[in-house]
Amino acid sequence: MDTRAFKRSLHHSERYNRRGFGLGEQVAVNLEEAYQSELIATIRENGYELRHGRLTVRLAEAFGFCWGVERAVAMAYETRRHYPSERIWITNEIIHNPSVNAHLRDMNVLFIRVEEGVKDFSEVGVGDVVILPAFGATVQEMQLLNERGCHIVDTTCPWVSKVWNTVEKHKKHAFSSIIHGKVKHEETLATSSFAGTYLVVLGLDEAQMVCDYILGKGDREAFISHFAKASSPGFDPDLDLARVGVANQTTMLKSETEEIGRMFERTMLQRYGPAELNDHFLAFNTICDATQERQDAMFSLVDEPLDLMVVIGGYNSSNTTHLQEIAISRGIRSFHIDTPERIGPGNRIEHMPLGGNLEMVTPFLPEGPLRVGITSGASTPDRVVEDVIRHLMQLCDD
Ligand code: SF4
Repeated sequence: MDTRAFKRSLHHSERYNRRGFGLGEQVAVNLEEAYQSELIATIRENGYELRHGRLTVRLAEAFGFCWGVERAVAMAYETRRHYPSERIWITNEIIHNPSVNAHLRDMNVLFIRVEEGVKDFSEVGVGDVVILPAFGATVQEMQLLNERGCHIVDTTCPWVSKVWNTVEKHKKHAFSSIIHGKVKHEETLATSSFAGTYLVVLGLDEAQMVCDYILGKGDREAFISHFAKASSPGFDPDLDLARVGVANQTTMLKSETEEIGRMFERTMLQRYGPAELNDHFLAFNTICDATQERQDAMFSLVDEPLDLMVVIGGYNSSNTTHLQEIAISRGIRSFHIDTPERIGPGNRIEHMPLGGNLEMVTPFLPEGPLRVGITSGASTPDRVVEDVIRHLMQLCDD
């Protein structure tokens, strides 16, 4: 499919909007009320530190809402104002944050039902308005909504669109896209829908498997079976790994994406030599600034002496999980929570250990003076971070 041509024609449609409705000022008050926090503003002014009795809170210097998410949420609010009486749908959570999605539900924005991982668009009708989330939607979903006569409000972050352009470039020049991402994540699903031939690798181990194969060290059947659900239909490792370009899910760990890029470059250099490198490897630059800034801020924070870390964000938020990975890699006791209510009376916390299931920990806070590091993923409003801090203060007062 010529995804570029489809996008071009969609962008010219009168039923398509990706710039908002010029109602920024009107929705600013609602956004401020729902998501901003005076306490957080004060902590920022105070060198990202708050002292309260025996508790010292250290905030990461970059955390929370990134501009792509702010933009998507503002566009969703504008959409409600622009279409006060139309049925409005979102193809998925607009961002991975329970409180933001609850606010949208309160505004009577409907969520497309998902059954066993498959979206059910059967209730969406002609003239309905459909918002595409910050991490995008697949080209097939866009096609379906366009053909059904819906108004599409596309809040896809420009950084994500940039990745789509990259994989389209790979396709045009007959390179396979190696996508560093989580195969079931909506952003990676969308990116692979714009790619031609592709393979999704989760991390360094899988990237190494692919590099080994390129250097003749793999078993064909085992390789095909391993990547069966993470590659384009009919992917043939003997043919399709001869020319590769790297792309990424924008919220993956930056250092890992960069390392994967270097691994493929080295591999192609070894296999084909420097004179032919450009025919076999395409460099990339699609790491989102916001993800990078939050990860860098986290690396500085975990260099400080901390008794524990609280990482706030949706449990299906990829960038939040990566922030927790950083804390764990430094051996810091860390807790990933999605809402402030996870911290409760009786000195308890209900949190999601990395790769595990919800778990209750009590006692949560140790006795004595306490330094707690706090960060949050790109989809978490300041208001939620404030509430978490207030719950911590309350526990320390008890
Ligand atoms: S994390 Fe980056 S790519 Fe994702 S929405 Fe925010 S700015 Fe865009």
